[in-house]
Amino acid sequence: MAPDVSIARPTVLTGPSGVGKGTLVARLRERHPELWLSISATTRAPRSGEVNGIHYFFHSQERFNELVQSGGLLEWAEFAGNCYGTPRQPIDERIGNGIPVLLEIELEGARQVRRSLPEAFQIFVAPPSFKELEQRIRCRGTEEEEAIQRRLRRAQDEMAAQEEFDAVIVNDDLESALAELEQLMRLHVS
Ligand code: 5GP
Repeated sequence: MAPDVSIARPTVLTGPSGVGKGTLVARLRERHPELWLSISATTRAPRSGEVNGIHYFFHSQERFNELVQSGGLLEWAEFAGNCYGTPRQPIDERIGNGIPVLLEIELEGARQVRRSLPEAFQIFVAPPSFKELEQRIRCRGTEEEEAIQRRLRRAQDEMAAQEEFDAVIVNDDLESALAELEQLMRLHVS
């Protein structure tokens, strides 16, 4: 089905680690292949199953610093001991071609995008409760305890900032959250 013209507005999805942004985005892209998801650069090591150039561009700290210095990133931030950033050129190209762009980034990056890409629609994905979030991060089993603690501390800051966003979706039930996201992004559902 043809996309609604309004979806050419870039969309930023932010929310604490473990809230289920990744699953939400994966389901959204299955249903709307016309959406283009920005692939971030990161200094984090790949998790099992993650592929360079598909899930992230995995870089050394030196290479990441070069990207920052050359202005190659639209935004970047440090998160739980690693750096993450959005490559600028692919975004500019997609926006220039009218392709709907989706960014899945953390709070500091979203704040930077408010300045560099003010037309972007910013959505915060919140968990039903903090306890539930902690459970989800622990169940994922991808991080050591120290990293879990760092992610939880950061999650508290992110949760406190949700009012800065254009809209908030509570990810309690995945299908309802997906429907809400589609509605906010004005995506047609067949
Ligand atoms: P993870 O290590 O779990 O893949 O990601 C950690 C956090 O970094 C998540 O909240 C994710 O949204 C965020 N993130 C991923 N890519 C980027 C990016 O390009 N820029 C920023 N600022 N955050 C990102």
